Amino acid sequence: MNDKYGRKINYLRISLTDKCNLKCIYCMPSEKNEEELFNSNMSYEENCNIIKAAASLGISKIRFTGGEPLLYKDINRLIAFTSKIASINDISITTNGMLLYDMAEDLKKSGLKRVNISLDSLKKDKFKDITRGGDIDKVFKSIEKCLSIGIEPVKINTVIMRGINDDEIDDFINLTKDNPISVRFIELMPIGEGRKIYKESFISSDEVLSRYSNLIPIEIDKSSTATLYKLKGAKGNIGFITPMSCKFCSDCNRIRLTSAGTLKPCLHSETEISVKEYADSNSIILDKIKETIYEKPSEHRILEEGKSDSKKMMYQVGG
Ligand code: SAM
Repeated sequence: MNDKYGRKINYLRISLTDKCNLKCIYCMPSEKNEEELFNSNMSYEENCNIIKAAASLGISKIRFTGGEPLLYKDINRLIAFTSKIASINDISITTNGMLLYDMAEDLKKSGLKRVNISLDSLKKDKFKDITRGGDIDKVFKSIEKCLSIGIEPVKINTVIMRGINDDEIDDFINLTKDNPISVRFIELMPIGEGRKIYKESFISSDEVLSRYSNLIPIEIDKSSTATLYKLKGAKGNIGFITPMSCKFCSDCNRIRLTSAGTLKPCLHSETEISVKEYADSNSIILDKIKETIYEKPSEHRILEEGKSDSKKMMYQVGG
Protein backbone atom coordinates (compact mmCIF):
# COMPACT_ATOMS: atom_id res chain seq x y z
CA MET A 1 0.00 0.00 0.00
CA ASN A 2 1.21 3.53 -0.75
CA ASP A 3 1.10 6.36 1.76
CA LYS A 4 -0.22 9.83 0.95
CA TYR A 5 3.21 10.92 -0.29
CA GLY A 6 3.36 8.00 -2.74
CA ARG A 7 5.86 5.95 -0.74
CA LYS A 8 5.31 2.21 -1.02
CA ILE A 9 5.04 0.80 2.52
CA ASN A 10 6.13 -2.83 2.50
CA TYR A 11 8.15 -3.20 5.71
CA LEU A 12 6.90 -3.84 9.26
CA ARG A 13 9.22 -3.76 12.26
CA ILE A 14 7.91 -5.41 15.39
CA SER A 15 9.27 -4.84 18.89
CA LEU A 16 8.35 -8.16 20.46
CA THR A 17 9.21 -7.18 24.02
CA ASP A 18 10.64 -4.19 25.82
CA LYS A 19 12.71 -6.49 28.03
CA CYS A 20 16.40 -6.72 27.33
CA ASN A 21 19.22 -8.71 28.86
CA LEU A 22 21.60 -5.75 28.33
CA LYS A 23 21.34 -2.09 29.24
CA CYS A 24 23.30 -0.23 26.56
CA ILE A 25 24.32 3.23 27.72
CA TYR A 26 22.46 4.98 24.85
CA CYS A 27 19.30 2.89 25.06
CA MET A 28 18.20 1.38 28.35
CA PRO A 29 18.18 3.19 31.71
CA SER A 30 20.60 1.63 34.21
CA GLU A 31 18.74 2.50 37.35
CA LYS A 32 15.63 0.52 36.47
CA ASN A 33 15.39 -3.16 37.12
CA GLU A 34 13.27 -5.44 34.96
CA GLU A 35 10.14 -5.20 37.10
CA GLU A 36 10.19 -1.41 36.91
CA LEU A 37 10.28 -1.41 33.14
CA PHE A 38 7.00 -1.81 31.34
CA ASN A 39 7.56 -5.44 30.42
CA SER A 40 4.94 -5.22 27.72
CA ASN A 41 4.50 -7.63 24.92
CA MET A 42 1.82 -8.83 22.54
CA SER A 43 0.70 -12.44 22.63
CA TYR A 44 1.69 -14.86 19.87
CA GLU A 45 -1.88 -14.84 18.51
CA GLU A 46 -2.10 -11.02 18.54
CA ASN A 47 1.18 -10.72 16.64
CA CYS A 48 0.08 -13.37 14.13
CA ASN A 49 -3.19 -11.56 13.41
CA ILE A 50 -1.41 -8.29 12.80
CA ILE A 51 1.26 -9.85 10.59
CA LYS A 52 -1.41 -11.62 8.51
CA ALA A 53 -3.39 -8.41 8.05
CA ALA A 54 -0.25 -6.40 7.26
CA ALA A 55 0.76 -8.96 4.63
CA SER A 56 -2.63 -8.61 2.94
CA LEU A 57 -1.96 -4.86 2.64
CA GLY A 58 1.39 -5.36 0.91
CA ILE A 59 3.88 -5.82 3.77
CA SER A 60 6.50 -8.24 2.42
CA LYS A 61 9.35 -7.67 4.88
CA ILE A 62 9.22 -8.26 8.63
CA ARG A 63 11.92 -7.54 11.20
CA PHE A 64 11.56 -8.76 14.77
CA THR A 65 13.36 -6.58 17.27
CA GLY A 66 12.88 -5.23 20.79
CA GLY A 67 14.04 -5.01 23.59
CA GLU A 68 15.72 -8.29 22.94
CA PRO A 69 13.58 -10.36 20.53
CA LEU A 70 15.23 -13.62 21.59
CA LEU A 71 13.67 -13.18 25.05
CA TYR A 72 10.22 -13.47 23.47
CA LYS A 73 9.22 -17.05 24.22
CA ASP A 74 7.29 -17.56 20.99
CA ILE A 75 9.93 -16.21 18.62
CA ASN A 76 10.41 -19.53 16.81
CA ARG A 77 6.69 -20.13 16.41
CA LEU A 78 6.20 -16.57 15.21
CA ILE A 79 8.95 -16.81 12.61
CA ALA A 80 7.56 -20.16 11.45
CA PHE A 81 4.08 -18.65 11.14
CA THR A 82 5.40 -15.62 9.25
CA SER A 83 7.46 -17.72 6.87
CA LYS A 84 4.34 -19.60 5.78
CA ILE A 85 2.76 -16.40 4.45
CA ALA A 86 3.61 -16.60 0.77
CA SER A 87 3.83 -12.85 0.15
CA ILE A 88 6.38 -12.32 2.95
CA ASN A 89 9.81 -12.86 1.46
CA ASP A 90 12.13 -11.37 4.04
CA ILE A 91 12.22 -12.20 7.76
CA SER A 92 15.01 -10.79 9.89
CA ILE A 93 15.86 -10.02 13.50
CA THR A 94 17.92 -7.39 15.29
CA THR A 95 19.56 -8.91 18.36
CA ASN A 96 22.37 -8.28 20.78
CA GLY A 97 23.55 -11.82 20.06
CA MET A 98 23.83 -12.93 23.69
CA LEU A 99 21.39 -15.83 23.23
CA LEU A 100 21.82 -16.36 19.52
CA TYR A 101 24.48 -19.06 19.53
CA ASP A 102 22.11 -21.63 21.04
CA MET A 103 19.07 -20.49 19.10
CA ALA A 104 20.45 -19.82 15.60
CA GLU A 105 19.80 -23.26 14.11
CA ASP A 106 16.19 -23.43 15.27
CA LEU A 107 15.57 -19.87 14.10
CA LYS A 108 16.93 -20.73 10.67
CA LYS A 109 14.78 -23.86 10.49
CA SER A 110 11.76 -21.74 11.39
CA GLY A 111 12.45 -19.46 8.43
CA LEU A 112 14.76 -16.70 9.63
CA LYS A 113 16.63 -15.25 6.65
CA ARG A 114 18.91 -12.53 8.05
CA VAL A 115 20.29 -11.15 11.30
CA ASN A 116 21.58 -7.80 12.48
CA ILE A 117 23.77 -8.16 15.55
CA SER A 118 24.51 -5.10 17.65
CA LEU A 119 28.16 -4.76 18.60
CA ASP A 120 29.61 -1.41 19.67
CA SER A 121 33.10 -2.48 20.68
CA LEU A 122 35.49 -5.27 19.78
CA LYS A 123 37.18 -5.01 23.17
CA LYS A 124 35.93 -7.23 25.97
CA ASP A 125 36.03 -4.66 28.78
CA LYS A 126 34.70 -1.78 26.76
CA PHE A 127 31.87 -3.93 25.42
CA LYS A 128 30.99 -4.85 29.00
CA ASP A 129 30.93 -1.15 29.96
CA ILE A 130 28.82 -0.01 27.00
CA THR A 131 26.29 -2.81 27.47
CA ARG A 132 26.50 -2.71 31.27
CA GLY A 133 27.39 -6.34 31.67
CA GLY A 134 27.46 -8.00 28.23
CA ASP A 135 29.83 -10.85 27.36
CA ILE A 136 31.53 -10.19 24.03
CA ASP A 137 32.64 -13.81 23.62
CA LYS A 138 28.99 -14.85 23.35
CA VAL A 139 28.46 -12.32 20.57
CA PHE A 140 31.54 -13.46 18.64
CA LYS A 141 30.42 -17.08 18.92
CA SER A 142 26.97 -16.12 17.64
CA ILE A 143 28.42 -14.31 14.63
CA GLU A 144 30.57 -17.31 13.75
CA LYS A 145 27.61 -19.64 14.20
CA CYS A 146 25.40 -17.61 11.86
CA LEU A 147 28.10 -17.55 9.20
CA SER A 148 28.74 -21.29 9.57
CA ILE A 149 25.09 -22.27 9.11
CA GLY A 150 24.49 -19.86 6.24
CA ILE A 151 22.35 -17.18 7.82
CA GLU A 152 23.47 -14.48 5.43
CA PRO A 153 24.15 -11.68 5.28
CA VAL A 154 25.20 -11.09 8.87
CA LYS A 155 25.09 -7.39 9.60
CA ILE A 156 26.84 -5.83 12.57
CA ASN A 157 25.15 -2.68 13.94
CA THR A 158 27.64 -0.30 15.52
CA VAL A 159 26.57 3.01 17.02
CA ILE A 160 29.62 5.26 16.75
CA MET A 161 30.13 7.52 19.78
CA ARG A 162 32.85 10.13 20.07
CA GLY A 163 35.33 9.38 22.81
CA ILE A 164 33.70 6.04 23.48
CA ASN A 165 34.30 3.78 20.48
CA ASP A 166 35.42 6.00 17.59
CA ASP A 167 38.96 4.78 18.18
CA GLU A 168 37.82 1.34 16.96
CA ILE A 169 36.41 2.33 13.57
CA ASP A 170 39.50 0.98 11.81
CA ASP A 171 39.16 -2.37 13.57
CA PHE A 172 35.51 -2.65 12.57
CA ILE A 173 36.35 -1.79 8.95
CA ASN A 174 39.13 -4.40 8.93
CA LEU A 175 36.66 -7.07 10.08
CA THR A 176 35.12 -6.92 6.61
CA LYS A 177 38.38 -7.86 4.84
CA ASP A 178 38.12 -11.60 5.45
CA ASN A 179 34.54 -12.02 6.65
CA PRO A 180 31.36 -11.83 4.53
CA ILE A 181 29.74 -9.43 6.96
CA SER A 182 28.34 -5.96 6.63
CA VAL A 183 29.39 -3.55 9.38
CA ARG A 184 26.87 -0.74 9.64
CA PHE A 185 27.92 2.43 11.42
CA ILE A 186 24.84 4.08 12.91
CA GLU A 187 24.64 7.71 13.99
CA LEU A 188 23.68 8.14 17.64
CA MET A 189 20.14 9.50 18.00
CA PRO A 190 18.83 11.70 20.85
CA ILE A 191 16.20 9.18 21.86
CA GLY A 192 15.96 7.29 25.16
CA GLU A 193 19.24 7.23 27.05
CA GLY A 194 20.86 8.54 23.86
CA ARG A 195 19.57 12.01 24.81
CA LYS A 196 21.89 12.09 27.81
CA ILE A 197 25.11 11.54 25.85
CA TYR A 198 24.10 12.92 22.46
CA LYS A 199 25.77 16.35 22.70
CA GLU A 200 29.23 15.14 23.55
CA SER A 201 29.11 11.78 21.76
CA PHE A 202 27.36 12.37 18.41
CA ILE A 203 29.64 11.95 15.44
CA SER A 204 28.35 12.27 11.89
CA SER A 205 28.88 9.63 9.22
CA ASP A 206 30.50 12.32 7.05
CA GLU A 207 33.13 12.87 9.69
CA VAL A 208 33.80 9.14 9.94
CA LEU A 209 33.95 8.82 6.14
CA SER A 210 36.34 11.75 5.83
CA ARG A 211 38.88 9.78 7.86
CA TYR A 212 38.93 6.89 5.34
CA SER A 213 39.87 7.58 1.73
CA ASN A 214 40.21 3.85 1.01
CA LEU A 215 36.47 3.12 1.09
CA ILE A 216 34.96 2.46 -2.34
CA PRO A 217 31.24 3.35 -2.79
CA ILE A 218 28.86 0.54 -3.82
CA GLU A 219 25.53 1.04 -5.64
CA ILE A 220 22.53 0.46 -3.38
CA ASP A 221 18.83 -0.18 -3.51
CA LYS A 222 16.81 3.05 -3.18
CA SER A 223 14.88 1.95 -0.09
CA SER A 224 18.05 0.91 1.76
CA THR A 225 18.71 2.93 4.90
CA ALA A 226 22.47 2.55 4.47
CA THR A 227 24.97 3.93 1.99
CA LEU A 228 27.49 1.21 1.28
CA TYR A 229 31.26 1.10 0.80
CA LYS A 230 33.91 -1.56 0.71
CA LEU A 231 37.62 -2.03 0.98
CA LYS A 232 39.29 -3.22 -2.23
CA GLY A 233 39.12 -7.02 -2.36
CA ALA A 234 37.17 -7.31 0.90
CA LYS A 235 34.61 -10.08 1.43
CA GLY A 236 32.28 -7.84 3.38
CA ASN A 237 31.20 -4.22 3.23
CA ILE A 238 30.60 -1.15 5.35
CA GLY A 239 27.32 0.72 5.61
CA PHE A 240 26.57 4.14 7.01
CA ILE A 241 23.15 4.72 8.52
CA THR A 242 22.54 8.42 8.86
CA PRO A 243 19.21 9.08 10.57
CA MET A 244 20.56 12.41 11.82
CA SER A 245 22.81 14.01 9.23
CA CYS A 246 21.08 12.81 6.09
CA LYS A 247 17.69 11.44 6.80
CA PHE A 248 16.22 8.87 4.46
CA CYS A 249 12.56 9.78 5.08
CA SER A 250 11.67 10.31 1.42
CA ASP A 251 12.49 6.66 0.73
CA CYS A 252 11.13 5.29 4.01
CA ASN A 253 9.08 2.14 3.44
CA ARG A 254 8.27 1.08 7.01
CA ILE A 255 5.79 1.17 9.83
CA ARG A 256 6.32 -0.20 13.33
CA LEU A 257 4.47 -2.19 15.94
CA THR A 258 5.55 -1.46 19.51
CA SER A 259 5.75 -4.06 22.27
CA ALA A 260 2.74 -2.34 23.87
CA GLY A 261 0.60 -3.05 20.82
CA THR A 262 0.54 0.35 19.17
CA LEU A 263 1.32 1.02 15.53
CA LYS A 264 3.74 3.84 14.78
CA PRO A 265 3.98 5.46 11.35
CA CYS A 266 7.48 6.77 12.09
CA LEU A 267 10.10 5.94 14.72
CA HIS A 268 10.30 9.56 15.82
CA SER A 269 6.71 10.75 15.59
CA GLU A 270 4.40 11.13 18.56
CA THR A 271 1.56 9.41 16.72
CA GLU A 272 0.61 5.95 17.93
CA ILE A 273 -2.43 3.98 16.91
CA SER A 274 -3.51 1.36 19.38
CA VAL A 275 -4.25 -2.02 17.88
CA LYS A 276 -3.79 -4.49 20.77
CA GLU A 277 -7.39 -4.32 21.94
CA TYR A 278 -8.66 -5.01 18.40
CA ALA A 279 -6.16 -7.73 17.61
CA ASP A 280 -8.85 -10.39 17.14
CA SER A 281 -10.81 -8.39 14.58
CA ASN A 282 -9.32 -8.62 11.11
CA SER A 283 -11.39 -5.76 9.71
CA ILE A 284 -10.42 -3.35 12.52
CA ILE A 285 -6.74 -4.31 12.28
CA LEU A 286 -6.84 -3.62 8.55
CA ASP A 287 -8.36 -0.17 9.21
CA LYS A 288 -5.73 0.58 11.89
CA ILE A 289 -2.87 -0.37 9.58
CA LYS A 290 -4.33 1.73 6.76
CA GLU A 291 -4.71 4.66 9.18
CA THR A 292 -1.08 4.23 10.29
CA ILE A 293 0.15 4.30 6.71
CA TYR A 294 -2.06 7.31 6.00
CA GLU A 295 -0.71 9.14 9.07
CA LYS A 296 2.91 8.60 8.07
CA PRO A 297 4.57 12.03 8.15
CA SER A 298 6.62 13.22 5.20
CA GLU A 299 9.68 13.37 7.46
CA HIS A 300 10.81 13.40 11.08
CA ARG A 301 12.12 16.58 12.73
CA ILE A 302 14.63 15.09 15.13
CA LEU A 303 17.50 17.21 13.82
CA GLU A 304 15.59 20.51 13.91
CA GLU A 305 14.19 19.84 17.38
CA GLY A 306 17.26 18.11 18.82
CA LYS A 307 15.12 15.30 20.18
CA SER A 308 12.74 12.63 19.06
CA ASP A 309 8.99 13.30 19.43
CA SER A 310 8.43 9.62 20.18
CA LYS A 311 6.75 8.88 23.49
CA LYS A 312 8.27 5.42 23.38
CA MET A 313 11.90 4.50 23.92
CA MET A 314 13.96 2.55 21.41
CA TYR A 315 13.57 -0.67 23.38
CA GLN A 316 9.78 -0.34 23.10
CA VAL A 317 9.66 0.68 19.43
CA GLY A 318 12.56 -1.47 18.30
CA GLY A 319 15.61 -0.35 16.33
N1 SAM B 1 18.31 -5.87 21.67
C1 SAM B 1 18.49 -5.81 20.26
C2 SAM B 1 19.86 -5.26 19.91
O1 SAM B 1 20.61 -4.93 20.81
O2 SAM B 1 20.15 -5.21 18.72
C3 SAM B 1 17.40 -5.07 19.48
C4 SAM B 1 16.90 -3.79 20.05
S1 SAM B 1 17.98 -2.41 19.93
C5 SAM B 1 16.91 -1.13 20.52
C6 SAM B 1 18.05 -2.15 18.20
C7 SAM B 1 19.07 -1.21 17.67
O3 SAM B 1 18.76 0.09 18.11
C8 SAM B 1 20.48 -1.52 18.11
O4 SAM B 1 21.29 -1.76 17.00
C9 SAM B 1 20.89 -0.26 18.84
O5 SAM B 1 22.23 0.03 18.63
C10 SAM B 1 19.97 0.80 18.25
N2 SAM B 1 19.78 1.95 19.13
C11 SAM B 1 19.20 2.00 20.34
N3 SAM B 1 19.23 3.24 20.85
C12 SAM B 1 19.84 4.03 19.92
C13 SAM B 1 20.18 5.42 19.85
N4 SAM B 1 19.90 6.26 20.84
N5 SAM B 1 20.80 5.86 18.73
C14 SAM B 1 21.10 5.01 17.72
N6 SAM B 1 20.81 3.69 17.71
C15 SAM B 1 20.18 3.20 18.81
